[in-house]
Amino acid sequence: MKDLTGIDYYINGLWTPGTAMLQPALYIQSLADGVSKHSNVTIYENSPVIDLIDEGMHGGEKIWKAKTKMGSISSSKIILAVNGMVERFGYFENRLMTIFTYSSMSRKLTSNESNILGGSKEWGLTSADAMGSSVRRISGIGGDRILIRNRWSYNPNMEASDSFMISAAKSHSSSFNARFSSLDGVTMEYCWGGRLCLSLNNVFAQGEVEEGVYSACCQNGLGTAKGTAIGIITAEKISGAISSLVPNFVDEEAPKKLMPKAIMWAGVNAYLGWKELMSGKEK
Ligand SMILES: Cc1cc2nc3c(=O)[nH]c(=O)nc-3n(C[C@H](O)[C@H](O)[C@H](O)COP(=O)(O)OP(=O)(O)OC[C@H]3O[C@@H](n4cnc5c(N)ncnc54)[C@H](O)[C@@H]3O)c2cc1C
Repeated sequence: MKDLTGIDYYINGLWTPGTAMLQPALYIQSLADGVSKHSNVTIYENSPVIDLIDEGMHGGEKIWKAKTKMGSISSSKIILAVNGMVERFGYFENRLMTIFTYSSMSRKLTSNESNILGGSKEWGLTSADAMGSSVRRISGIGGDRILIRNRWSYNPNMEASDSFMISAAKSHSSSFNARFSSLDGVTMEYCWGGRLCLSLNNVFAQGEVEEGVYSACCQNGLGTAKGTAIGIITAEKISGAISSLVPNFVDEEAPKKLMPKAIMWAGVNAYLGWKELMSGKEK
């Protein structure tokens, strides 16, 4: 562990052969660039759909109009890939939990700091405890940096609070300091939180939810792998071009109904807080 990370915080770890580490923002951005460059697809960013209007039957198909502030698009087939926000469209209501997790990224390490730290220039550790910290060292675009991810909050209103962000940032700094004592002058440059969607029974919120409207949501925390898979499966099912994942996909049961929001909020946050406390040095 020390050879890999340069630090002696970890006693041992489990390496999974055949895995790859990717930079998610770069991956999504490159995918979007590739799609725009090599096909007729136009991606409209920063244009949330504010209404999905049933325009009735035309030529034997139901037509839906996705309306944004600036314009609209009509189609007989719609895929909702909006994570827990699918509830706002009226689907899977009170069946999905929007949980936030938080991350901080250090400023760029100088080459001197990088040498002092030692170890490999790129690695990623996922904690054995679900409430523990994920720690990554990245290099390349954006410099040599350390990322720490920990803390969870359940926010049924789908917004994270400023006070929790501040508390998460403090938690990241203390997890960083506990691990990287040789980098005592290094501070965090960025801190952010983001939404995950979970269901009680750990299933996707997927399938045709209304004629021509398909959902590919709720990745239960494994966004990159499971999100890509359910996106491919949904697109293939709609287009009829069943070529890769569809044959192996077994239809799952629907996400289970949650208890009333107030009970869920108190219960889930108390549970998360308790589990975080129990995670000890893994955090
Ligand atoms: C700090 C952090 C670290 C994480 N680390 C990992 C990790 O290491 N590995 C991993 O697999 N997962 C990780 N996750 C989880 C992963 O990011 C999520 O599971 C994943 O992003 C879910 O993907 P998604 O596309 O379904 O939803 P999202 O990424 O939430 O995307 C939903 C999109 O829908 C858009 N949208 C919402 N409403 C509308 C609307 N009305 N009109 C138009 N667009 C709309 C949003 O703008 C957004 O772009 C992490 C999450 C966080 C926050």
